[in-house]
Amino acid sequence: MSTPTPPTAKPFAATVLGAPRIGPDRELKRAIEGYWAGRISAEGLAGTAADLRRRSWQELAAAGLDSIPVNTFSYYDQVLDTAVMLDALPDRVAGIDDPLDRYFAAARGNAEVTPLEMTKWFDTNYHYLVPEIAPTTQFRLRPEKVLAEIAQARGTGIDPRPVVVGPITFLALAKAVDGGPEPLSRIDDVVSCYFELIDRLVDAGVEWVQFDEPALVTDIADGLPELAADVYGRLSAVTRRPAILVATYFGDPGAALGALARTAVEAIAVDLIEGSVEAVAAVPELANKLVVAGVVDGRNIWRTDLDAALATLGSLLGSAGDLAVSTSCSTLHVPYSLAPEAGLDDNLRGWLAFAAEKYTEVATLASALRNGRESQAAAFDASRAALATRATDPRLADAGVRTRLAACTDADITRTAAATRLAQQQEHLNLPPLPTTTIGSYPQTSAIRLARAALRSGDIDDAEYVRRMHAEIADVVALQERIGLDVLVHGEPERNDMVQYFAEQLDGFFATANGWVQSYGTRCVRPPILYGDVARPAPMTVDWITFAQSLTTKPVKGMLTGPVTILAWSFVRNDQPLADSANQIALAIRDETVDLEKAGVAIIQVDEPALRELLPLRNADKSAYLDWAVKAFRLSTSGVADTTQVHTHLCYSEFGEVIGAIAALDADVTSIEAARSHMEVLDDLNQVGFANGVGPGVYDIHSPRVPGAEEIRDSLTSALKAVDAQRLWVNPDCGLKTRNTDEVTESLTNMVAAAQAARTALG
Ligand code: GLN
Ligand code: ZN
Repeated sequence: MSTPTPPTAKPFAATVLGAPRIGPDRELKRAIEGYWAGRISAEGLAGTAADLRRRSWQELAAAGLDSIPVNTFSYYDQVLDTAVMLDALPDRVAGIDDPLDRYFAAARGNAEVTPLEMTKWFDTNYHYLVPEIAPTTQFRLRPEKVLAEIAQARGTGIDPRPVVVGPITFLALAKAVDGGPEPLSRIDDVVSCYFELIDRLVDAGVEWVQFDEPALVTDIADGLPELAADVYGRLSAVTRRPAILVATYFGDPGAALGALARTAVEAIAVDLIEGSVEAVAAVPELANKLVVAGVVDGRNIWRTDLDAALATLGSLLGSAGDLAVSTSCSTLHVPYSLAPEAGLDDNLRGWLAFAAEKYTEVATLASALRNGRESQAAAFDASRAALATRATDPRLADAGVRTRLAACTDADITRTAAATRLAQQQEHLNLPPLPTTTIGSYPQTSAIRLARAALRSGDIDDAEYVRRMHAEIADVVALQERIGLDVLVHGEPERNDMVQYFAEQLDGFFATANGWVQSYGTRCVRPPILYGDVARPAPMTVDWITFAQSLTTKPVKGMLTGPVTILAWSFVRNDQPLADSANQIALAIRDETVDLEKAGVAIIQVDEPALRELLPLRNADKSAYLDWAVKAFRLSTSGVADTTQVHTHLCYSEFGEVIGAIAALDADVTSIEAARSHMEVLDDLNQVGFANGVGPGVYDIHSPRVPGAEEIRDSLTSALKAVDAQRLWVNPDCGLKTRNTDEVTESLTNMVAAAQAARTALG
């Protein structure tokens, strides 16, 4: 195949695949929310956005990168932006004239229209909007956004490399609606738009374009390598086009790497944190490509071992035609900069690199690759010195934790047979059939938020904070008694976040001051950093739960977050297997369950809403993950007596590949979402032989709508066809913290009435 390399495209040496966009102080969040609230005009919002883009490009250029990604900015999500670029928004928003309002309606809905579905971006904690492909979907190129950002970059003196989600990933992540075809069957129509796009990019003077194809590191569809060969074969056969970089990330592209290398694209980005050098060496066709080597971790916060990264780059020199240094993926997934983190001790600071620090690492490595390590001696020395302290810091190897874990056996993850346990628990708890309960949190009122802020600012002391939280707990307990629920909760008022709350109390975790990352849209999270061995210096929840229990004769559930979820929503250690970190956290949670039990708590819920999130992208890796995840959960819950009832909660109903693992958790009671139908969810569980208690959510807490008692009763009737009354629990589908007290009171009152009616019917 001839290689129609555009004459103007020069290889580059140092880049990143993308950058954060929320602003170092979440300026974009505030501007967008201000626009939604009518406080900020469209022009005001556009001004903030333009300013943030300019600052980001200038920062990348100043760090020494010689190719700058643009169009990685977004008002909400890059997949939604791609749907807009392909004119493929759903018909239901087509009537909204203003493009920005149409965009936000697709993103988050409004009084008339439901938004696109949102789901996780591969195995990250970023969420994208799922494009809908209907029978009527017509694709048409709408390049205004990318062209505008290119023009702005040029105006700023930046030579832009536009980044666009590639056609395969776009369709692989889309879903068919209204009986539409399987999305990937529309690939030719979409590729037509990309032909037009590359033509327009040449008009705009663009030398390089980056197409993001992370779908190529997954098994989400069959035949992806062949599709990559076909799509990029055709796109690269065009003679009037920019040079093309196809970016794979989040894993090893496998056969897709060779397939891409056999097309005429100029460059391929490979993730060398998740993927391997051997995979690159195995593809001889890379000898005439620019390999963009992702040796700086784009999604975790650890400082790069520069010697090791340089060695990796060196070993690629023989395989690649040319080599550029890059992050493994966009730095969208890490905080902006270490600069605001005043609370770090020197060792910990030395081990970390947020986005800004990573840009410097990339530039340092690129320079060392060209001019020798000596040219960057100071940076290499600093990297070595920091790593040396990480290797010897006692917090990373707690002998007590390690000895204890090494001594764990199957007995520590095994409880008595479930039926025996349930009989003993029932004797102890004496619950009616169809017991009613909730998932844990109650509305996070403004009083709660004010108290937390006042404690942080020093306006109130700990004693006053506890007094205010006790008042909240007392209210929630009284409310539940009035409503007539059978198993009560304390309402979780003291928890800002179900992971951070525990991370703040466990050794081995550090909570950042300003380490915000985008979760979705304007929603940002501040994941804790797991840097050391985990231990629990003191009980974390016992006082709150026992206080609640002291107010009622009904049982109050203890509420904990499980080890897999704590890991999934943190930045994790990269110096030991995830399973080891999971087990350490599990021991800490186990100690908490034992202390709760000692304090007289008879029911303990260990939430694992993230169990499915950590599922590996490749089918071959899934069973090993589920094996350690299940074991970690069981380690955390098997320390209690048979009479103690263990609950768990999972936030989804499409179990798919994790159904067997859910059963294997062996919780006494599992509450789950049941968005589809109760029967289906329960049938799925029955099919894998699950015979423990189950609480399929009887109403959707994500909506303000109050369900009627009749409708809940109907759900229960259908659930009772799949599960007998002894096993069926009655609860909403998730925590209530986002709802208001009126909605919660009405909904739960109806829920209890429905349960009572169903009991009466049972006789
Ligand atoms: N116990 C938590 C709550 O009720 C569970 C939250 C979740 O499932 N994400 O808020
Ligand atoms: Zn949930």
